[in-house]
Amino acid sequence: MTLRPASASDLLIDGKLTPGSGGVFDVVNPATEEVIGQAADATAADMDAAITAARNAFDTTDWSRDHAFRAHCLRQLRDALLAHADEFRELTIAEVGCPSFLTHGPQFEGPVTDLGYFADLAESYEWSRDLGKAKPMGIKNHRELRSEAIGVVGAITPWNFPHQINFAKIGPALAAGCTVVLKPAPDTPWCAALVGKVVAEETDFPPGVLNVVTSTDHELGAQLSTDPRVDLVSFTGSTATGKKVMVAAAETLKKVFLELGGKSAFIVLDDADIGSACAMAAFNVVTHAGQGCAITTRLVVPREKLDEAIAATRDALAGLPAGDPTDSGTICGPVISARQRQRIESYIELAQQEGGTIEIGGGRPADKAAGFFVEPTLISGLDNSARVAQEEIFGPVLVIIAHDGDDDAIDIANDSPYGLSGMVYGTDEDRINKVVNGVRTGTMGINGGIWYSADVPFGGFKQSGIGREMGVAGFEEYLETKAVARPA
Ligand code: NAD
Repeated sequence: MTLRPASASDLLIDGKLTPGSGGVFDVVNPATEEVIGQAADATAADMDAAITAARNAFDTTDWSRDHAFRAHCLRQLRDALLAHADEFRELTIAEVGCPSFLTHGPQFEGPVTDLGYFADLAESYEWSRDLGKAKPMGIKNHRELRSEAIGVVGAITPWNFPHQINFAKIGPALAAGCTVVLKPAPDTPWCAALVGKVVAEETDFPPGVLNVVTSTDHELGAQLSTDPRVDLVSFTGSTATGKKVMVAAAETLKKVFLELGGKSAFIVLDDADIGSACAMAAFNVVTHAGQGCAITTRLVVPREKLDEAIAATRDALAGLPAGDPTDSGTICGPVISARQRQRIESYIELAQQEGGTIEIGGGRPADKAAGFFVEPTLISGLDNSARVAQEEIFGPVLVIIAHDGDDDAIDIANDSPYGLSGMVYGTDEDRINKVVNGVRTGTMGINGGIWYSADVPFGGFKQSGIGREMGVAGFEEYLETKAVARPA
């Protein structure tokens, strides 16, 4: 099989590849602005059919109880996708605009390989636990806990790391025994549609276990949130939309998993090497043009070293220009769309209106006639109350903020509605630990440490979300607990 773009214009519903009732919509390459093909445009009726299929597959088959078969299907999917790695890599770079080097990690190979981790979990998980005997109300009973799949999962995903986020939901959900309806973002339909094609043509997944519904209509996400046949909604995207999902899901009291925005702080302590810390902060913020919720976008440095830090960060950003994502040396590609670029540019303008200084960047690269590129940008001269320090920009834009000691740095990091990630650079272990313990976030790196891995739960404190994705905790999001007792 060859994964040609034309073959991506199908939905996967009840095991069949079917056209969308709404026709097709264009897929645009963000690096060239060219239309590179079409994707199926599903309607509410298609979504209804997908939910029906997922419900039937859950209620009428042995999928949720056959742990070994699920592990087999997941490993089969992993191997089939890896066999198509070169085709997926090319299509992912064209559709997402992500730098090619990332397709060897979180933009394709990483999350696909991690399907094996969830297959292993399906087999090794302790599905029942003996609680032994007790005498509730004076009567001797033998108790046991059983874990069961929660049911039908609606997975709603964004465009920035489509494979990573799609597989971080469908991997554990399917391993847990759930059935899934995946609704990807309209900006990146192929990354999901082509997985649907491989599932239909090259694996033993039973019909209805995984359904893929691409659409331009955001309301299809809302449909998943409200439909009573869906038991859990797993959502990644903006905090504003996450709140709507939670409100919509309340009517049927379905469980929600939310992975939302971030404005994470990169804290540099006064005993750290400023040069290497600022180089890492610059690298982080330009990676995939800053389109990552866990990217550190506030650089918090000792006030007495502010000038040194600005110079070091500016130098580092100068060496990381926005470039062609197909080039293996590119770290900063384009942003996803003209709309996102406009949003980023309005934040850069706002920073200047609020009194900030653009130390480098701030515009569009002069050498790019087409593509949604933004120059890597450093903003100084503002404190943490500025809107560009409080709101998620989702572009290659770093705000540098001065701190007056370790406690002040922790306060600045925590002065945010978000709490997704963070980084601390320093040399004194006690001081580093105080920062790690003091910052209220779901993940934290020390001196460049990378926490991202299949077995590490990811998620946020505060308005960055609810629940954890990946790891055993991420798998257990998709389970219910049943307590069973019999007279002993
Ligand atoms: P979004 O939150 O609008 O969309 C994410 C997904 O939710 C898409 O699949 C979309 O179709 C769906 N959706 C939209 N409205 C919905 C609703 N009412 N109910 C259910 N689903 C709905 O995000 P976006 O438009 O892709 O990006 C906008 C902003 O979100 C970005 O600028 C960025 O700040 C943030 N973002 C965050 C992440 C993250 O991982 N935290 C990822 C991408 C974008």
